[in-house]
Formats: sequence, C-alpha cells, structure tokens
Amino acid sequence: MVAKLELVSLSKSYGKIDVIKNLSLEVGAGEFFVVLGPSGTGKSTLLKLIVGIEQPDEGKILIDGKDVTRLPPNKRNLAMVFQNYALYPNLNVYQNIAFPLKMHRRRNIDSKVKKVAQELGIEEILEKRIQQISGGQQQRVALARAIVRNPALFLLDEPLSNLDARVRYSARSELKKIQEELDETFLFVTHDQKEAEALGDRVGVLHSGSFEQVAPYRELYENPGTQWIGDFVGDFPMNFIKNIGFRPEWTSIGDSGEHEIMVDTSESIGGIFFIHGTLKDGTSLILKSLRRYDVGDSVRFSVTRSRTFSEAP
Ligand code: ADP
Ligand code: MG
Repeated sequence: MVAKLELVSLSKSYGKIDVIKNLSLEVGAGEFFVVLGPSGTGKSTLLKLIVGIEQPDEGKILIDGKDVTRLPPNKRNLAMVFQNYALYPNLNVYQNIAFPLKMHRRRNIDSKVKKVAQELGIEEILEKRIQQISGGQQQRVALARAIVRNPALFLLDEPLSNLDARVRYSARSELKKIQEELDETFLFVTHDQKEAEALGDRVGVLHSGSFEQVAPYRELYENPGTQWIGDFVGDFPMNFIKNIGFRPEWTSIGDSGEHEIMVDTSESIGGIFFIHGTLKDGTSLILKSLRRYDVGDSVRFSVTRSRTFSEAP
C-alpha cells in the first residue's frame, strides 16, 4: 500500500515550548523523504503527531487525502521504527515480527513472518532472543515488524544512530535498497547529514518548528535558500563575506587572489586539505586546498563561485 502524506499548518507546543510551528509538507507516494535537523528540533515530535501518539494543537494530517488528525494510532495504518527499536526483549525474533499481526488478528501470520524474514535475511535468527542478536540485526527485525503489517506509510526515527560506524553504512544502503524494492513511502528523520544525503529523494531541514527548505540534498548544498541553510548544510559551513556565501571548494588559491587570510590550521581529509583561516577583519573562513599550509602563513585566494543572500550576515 503506497500512500501520500500531507501535513497542513501543524503546530504543537509542550507548555511554553513551541516545538512544531505552522509546519506544512507534502510527501509523494513512494518517496523517501528525510527530515533533517539537529537534536531537540522536534523530529520525534513530528513523527509522534503523524503516527497519532501525540495530538497537534492546530493543523491537519492527511493520508491519501483522508483526514486522520483525530484518528487513534491503530486506525491510521502507519508503522513506526523507533530509535531504540522498541523490540520486546522477552520475545524471540519470530514473536516480535508476528506481534502486530496477532494484535490486529490478521490471517496467514506464519507465512507472512517467514516471507519478510527471508526478504530481510533474518530467517536464520527467528528463534533467537533479542539480547542474543546484534544491533544491525535488531534494526532489521524492527523493520521486518513494520513491513509485515503492510502499512500505508513508514515512519523511521533515527533507526541507524545506535549502530557502529561499519554496520551503519551497510544498514544505510540496505535500507535504501529495501525502500526501492518495496516502493513504499518513507518518512525518515535524522540529525545526520550523510544519511540525509545518501537516503533522501528530498530532504526537509527542520528549523524553529518548520521547514527552512525542502529540496534534494545536492540542491540544499549547491543552492541554499537561506544563509542559515548555507551554514547548516555541508561538512563545513558556507563561508560568508558581506552578503555573499561560498563553499570551501568555490575558491582558487593563488598570489593574485583578491582576499588574504592568515592560516589557523590545516585539516587533512581524504588527502585533501581544508585550510581554516582568518581575514584581516576577523572573519573566519575555510578553503579547500591541494597542499597543507602552516599556522600563520598568508594565503591569497579568489572566490570563483558564490551565492548572494538578501539578509545581512
Ligand atoms: P528531536 O527528536 O529532534 O531531538 P524532540 O521532538 O524529541 O526533538 O523534542 C523537541 C523538543 O520538545 C525538545 O525541547 C524536548 O525537550 C521537547 N519535548 C519533547 N517531548 C516532550 C514532552 N512529552 N513534554 C515536554 N517537552 C517535550
Ligand atoms: Mg528524536
């Protein structure tokens, strides 16, 4: 079942904290949509509103055009994968996957559980207890428990963040593959830009309770809509001189360059150097360079490409 999701002017406060403010979004059927935002920006709250664990103060939630805002969670047919997976520790893998089917009194439970276990490569561990399997396997079990219900929409709350780096990369590409094969609608929230870049058809950047910009990651990077996005998106923030912004690689270093920095540090990443330095007026900048510079070196450079923002820096 592949559904589209519409959020219309959603707001949610906890006491005096306005977590979600007038947030609107349309996620297309079959889209992998990533919500990106630093910790504490309301990503989990947003998912809880959609799944129905929390109620919005204002606004509407539509799934395939149907208003579900006031429906209880079990009437929305959505599956949520939580950050800690929320698996039942006293049940084995098989029982965990079968649980929602039993609860909803579905038919053919055994064949459904075995089919999804086979698809996710966990058929060998069905009899194991949750404590006996690895984090990566737990993530797959949580996903299997979601898939087996054939939900209209998958909501995933930072499901990769508890995994070790190695497992996280393989789990990430596996997740993308699974979503492409299922061709279902995924709403995936994360604070991790690499995940947003690798997974999202589009990425919505959450800031101050609503989306600052919604676009494919590449566009957020190349063509940030606001200075805040330029600063937030990317391994390094965009550099700003007056009202122009430029990436570390949108520069050319050379003696005839129009600007000059004094070098603070050279950082080597994958054989390329990122030179952190300061302009005469104290502005900090980062330039990409093929060679290392020493602290206190003077480096001249020109900006080869830039983006102009209307607000002052
Ligand atoms: P994220 O998932 O992006 O880290 P959350 O949605 O968990 O952010 O939280 C957003 C803000 O809402 C935080 O300031 C958090 O303290 C607050 N918050 C979340 N849930 C509650 C709650 N049940 N009661 C009060 N404040 C909450
Ligand atoms: Mg969260």
